[in-house]
Amino acid sequence: MLKQKSAIVTGSTSGIGLGIARAFAEQGADVMLNGFGNAQEIEFTRAELQRQFGVKVRYSSADMSQPAQIRALAEMARAEFGKVDIIVNNAGIQHVAPIDTFPDEKWDAVLAINLSSAFHLIKAVAPEMKSRRCGRIVNIASAHGLTASPFKSAYVAAKHGLIGLSKTVAIELAEYGVTCNTICPGYVKTPLVDKQIADQARAHGISEADVVRDVMLVHQARKEFVRVEELAALAVFLCSDAGASMTAGAIAMDGGWTQH
Ligand code: NAD
Repeated sequence: MLKQKSAIVTGSTSGIGLGIARAFAEQGADVMLNGFGNAQEIEFTRAELQRQFGVKVRYSSADMSQPAQIRALAEMARAEFGKVDIIVNNAGIQHVAPIDTFPDEKWDAVLAINLSSAFHLIKAVAPEMKSRRCGRIVNIASAHGLTASPFKSAYVAAKHGLIGLSKTVAIELAEYGVTCNTICPGYVKTPLVDKQIADQARAHGISEADVVRDVMLVHQARKEFVRVEELAALAVFLCSDAGASMTAGAIAMDGGWTQH
């Protein structure tokens, strides 16, 4: 579905981003991986995706909290693939703490990586997408872009902001054949959530099993974590020709959580 396309997926060394990068490669797109992690493992993943699906897979270690590195990431993708058809702003971090003790530097980091990075990457590719009159922008927000939970002030603010940014970009670029949508996942069992289980247990003063049952999945009517593959399939659809009229959406894939 994505043959001849090229994509940047930020934060794709792990979790949801890696799942989306894999699905894009499977659909025939060249993919720029990005994110942190063990250099050998990243190179193994890159080479394996390239071998398995016969597409170009490259890797950039750009830090999504650094605007100059984000611009360099866009340049690198253009140099490697000749063009950028798709970007997925997925890189994200979480910090869980009560508002009165929420560390200033964590607030700044969560806002930079989860929200401002999307602004900088969109800004870097928008001229090219406008002039070629095609493009797909997918932002990975969260159910926490639509609703709030305690102890997550920075994350909830960033994800609400990402939906606002996404709608604005969608309206600005619609006449140029560029779509921009936000996917809002419920809880997905990735390394980010594994870490949160422990953090939430401390913040709420309850066990980790209770966090999963009584905090994370309490509103997810389906009572199961969302799967990475389900989110990746939605991203593929949004980036396909069939997604041409779907823009400015904040699409929940959350097992019913935000409809409670
Ligand atoms: P993850 O921790 O598995 O992956 C996060 C990725 O972002 C990794 O590749 C990491 O290296 C990268 N990253 C972190 N900081 C970075 C930086 N400064 N520069 C570049 N890359 C950086 O997490 P995940 O669960 O796959 O989360 C991916 C996205 O999905 C995030 O935006 C997260 O907020 C969102 N999300 C996750 C869930 C969930 O339950 N897991 C739910 C809703 C939304």
